[in-house]
Amino acid sequence: MCKHLFDKGIAGEVVLEAMIKTPRHVFLESTFHQHAYQDKAFPIAAEQTISHPSTVAWQSELLELKPGMKVLEIGTGCGYQAAVLLHLGVKLFTIERQKELFDFSKTILKALGLRAEQKFGDGFKGMPIFAPFERIIVTCGAPYVPKALLSQLTVGGIMIIPVGEGIQKMVRIKKMQDGQFVQKVLGDAAFVPMLKDRE
Ligand code: SAH
Repeated sequence: MCKHLFDKGIAGEVVLEAMIKTPRHVFLESTFHQHAYQDKAFPIAAEQTISHPSTVAWQSELLELKPGMKVLEIGTGCGYQAAVLLHLGVKLFTIERQKELFDFSKTILKALGLRAEQKFGDGFKGMPIFAPFERIIVTCGAPYVPKALLSQLTVGGIMIIPVGEGIQKMVRIKKMQDGQFVQKVLGDAAFVPMLKDRE
């Protein structure tokens, strides 16, 4: 699987090494185990999906990570992208709005010996008490760029977020020295929608 991603030029060696260290089948129901290393999305609990490995590789590469960076992830899901980020040596904060997935991802990351600050709640709000973050990755399709997330980026910080309804555009947003944000639209993506908390 990682050789295929490398040949396609989706990510560099550092990201792919982290993916090699991250077993994908353990995040899936046993019926999907034999297909876990194909570049496909599969259903997980609460009618959500695990991201395609190529998407995980792409977003991880776009984040331009260095070990020790403070990273916020919106949409923990089963925890696969989180595990890849943790293998890249970052300090991870991650939010999930579905209780079943929050509980599942907590158990599985612990079983893999990985540690993240996990929150059950609404990703639109970010995690103000732990802000600011050097990187923010959104792994669900956002209807717009949430203001709270922009306000939780450091100067020089980068956010990678799929924006739009249905098919999204992957957008890279960088916070500049003067506090302005520079946006670059990178390509199409298809994530499950980012939904508001049920309040
Ligand atoms: N990162 C995951 C992708 C999971 S799919 C992976 O590695 O495969 C996207 C996840 O975003 C779903 O679990 C969904 O419940 C969650 N989500 C949707 N809206 C959200 C919100 N407002 N806040 C937090 N999580 C959200």
